[in-house]
Amino acid sequence: MNENIKYGKVILAGAGPGDPELITAKAIRYLQQADVVLTDRLVSDEILRRYVNPAAEVIYVGKQCRKGSSTLQETINELLVQYAAQQKTVVRLKGGDVSIFSNVLDELETLVRHKIPYEIIPGVTAALGAAAYTGIPLTARGYSTAVRFLTLYKSDVVTDAYWKELAGSRDTLVFYMSAETVNTVVSKLIQFGVADDIRIAVVEQATTPLQNIHTCHIHEFPDKFGDRIFLSPSLVIIGRVVALHEQFSWITSSNSQEEYFKPGAFINKNPGEDDSKKVSRA
Ligand code: SAH
Repeated sequence: MNENIKYGKVILAGAGPGDPELITAKAIRYLQQADVVLTDRLVSDEILRRYVNPAAEVIYVGKQCRKGSSTLQETINELLVQYAAQQKTVVRLKGGDVSIFSNVLDELETLVRHKIPYEIIPGVTAALGAAAYTGIPLTARGYSTAVRFLTLYKSDVVTDAYWKELAGSRDTLVFYMSAETVNTVVSKLIQFGVADDIRIAVVEQATTPLQNIHTCHIHEFPDKFGDRIFLSPSLVIIGRVVALHEQFSWITSSNSQEEYFKPGAFINKNPGEDDSKKVSRA
């Protein structure tokens, strides 16, 4: 770390869950001023195309563990420091909200360690986007008094006491990053006596034109959807509130199996690639 370096500013911004109109005016303003944008897998090309300063360098630093291709967190941290040291305005754009199931902590620690100025701009997290675009009010009066954002990632070890508490809870449960573990989630909740009136919704590609929703009573899930591979990204909503979808849905499922998030079409640089391979975005 060099105390004499004058750093540019880093903006940690949420891009929202998919629909390009679900990004904040503040994030758009910074994207228009940016010299460099470090973007994630769950930020659509459409958002980059619409809002990013055409002169900016756009670098894809997405991670998708289940598909293997990933940018190391250290690489992302280094890029933040490297570009800020060039006095550039750097926007670190993340899907949804920056603080929900993201690696923002590593990035904040890096910025503070180097005394790099930063701002944090919130975004619409996937749970809230999915709730709105499926007509499932997450804490509807008379149905639920709380909502929990959770994940059961492949490697997580969760105690029986934890499952028992979840199975007995009337709170709405929203599981992120759990499309591959949803069968485990359901079987554990059933094992620990989840009530008959609890329903489940799996929302694929929420808020995008390719949104799909699959719902049933939680006890029916193993028979109806046990073999299904859900598209990425998918969000799992569990609770009595899911019943409200039938009454208040205002978007029909696309019934498409096409993937909405296809990084690459717009991106002009991947980390590690030399500048000679930079693709023009024209
Ligand atoms: N920071 C993000 C979450 C990142 S973790 C946010 O606030 O939304 C990635 C997980 O978010 C995915 O595995 C999925 O569970 C969920 N997710 C993100 N975008 C989604 C979308 N458009 N539809 C459904 N789930 C989504």
